[in-house]
Amino acid sequence: MSAAIEALPPLREVIAQHELAARKSLGQNFLLDLNLTRKIARAAMPWVAGTVIEIGPGPGGLTRALLLEGAPAVVAVERDERCLAALAELVTAAAGRLRLQPGDALETDIADLAPPPWQIAANLPYNIATPLILGWLARASQIARITVLVQKEVAQRLAAPPGSDHYGRLSVAAQWRCEVRMLFDIGPKAFVPAPKVTSTVVELQPRPAPLAEADPKKLERMTAAAFGQRRKMLRAALKPLWPDAEAKLIATGIDPTRRAETLSIEEFCALARLL
Ligand code: SAM
Repeated sequence: MSAAIEALPPLREVIAQHELAARKSLGQNFLLDLNLTRKIARAAMPWVAGTVIEIGPGPGGLTRALLLEGAPAVVAVERDERCLAALAELVTAAAGRLRLQPGDALETDIADLAPPPWQIAANLPYNIATPLILGWLARASQIARITVLVQKEVAQRLAAPPGSDHYGRLSVAAQWRCEVRMLFDIGPKAFVPAPKVTSTVVELQPRPAPLAEADPKKLERMTAAAFGQRRKMLRAALKPLWPDAEAKLIATGIDPTRRAETLSIEEFCALARLL
């Protein structure tokens, strides 16, 4: 089974044959080094009983690696029809383990792709990485693990603890539902074409239950208000939500002169519960 995948033409040939000139608008930065894609695939392991969802297989470097590392079933969502054509040989070589789903990942509900649990492994198109991750967080209870390559700056925001410069709305949304770990960096030179920035493989491991009770929409409203004016003290930043913000903060045991970046996720949840 692996032999058929290993016998496929090198990715550079696939790219040349299908004239896959990278499109910036689709966030196309391809990984052609199979040692590296296999390292990313191994970082996503162990495989769970369920389906691996890959967003943006492109010419198929990571897809090959996922299959070679033993992923039992992969569904890959790709928007670029040129890539879908280039992946046809891999679908055949994968002997039933790979299905391609044409279309826009932002408009694709993973529940329509396969039954849960899902495991997500991808080199994400950077321009839509954050909205994709936010969408998956809403389904965190049915997701076994998310292992994705994103811009380092996005990984830092996902993983940032309170008090750090990167701590913000995305950190709270992600860590409320998941344990987040930055696994390793990948420099620009590994990609074709090379992006301007360093990338990081980041893991989001959904928690058995959210860190503290809160309605997700209210938590989002709270963090949007608090971080919208992150340099202001909370008693001022939260005024648009509550004319009596100072009293609400005191009632929650939070010093009204603190700033958003110092609040723990549990404290944001306590405030969201008052909304
Ligand atoms: N997985 C390949 C690799 O590692 O070499 C390609 C990764 S490249 C960073 C991102 C891929 O996502 C491209 O193949 C691009 O066509 C695809 N893509 C971009 N926007 C998309 C969208 N909205 N829905 C699905 N795929 C998308």
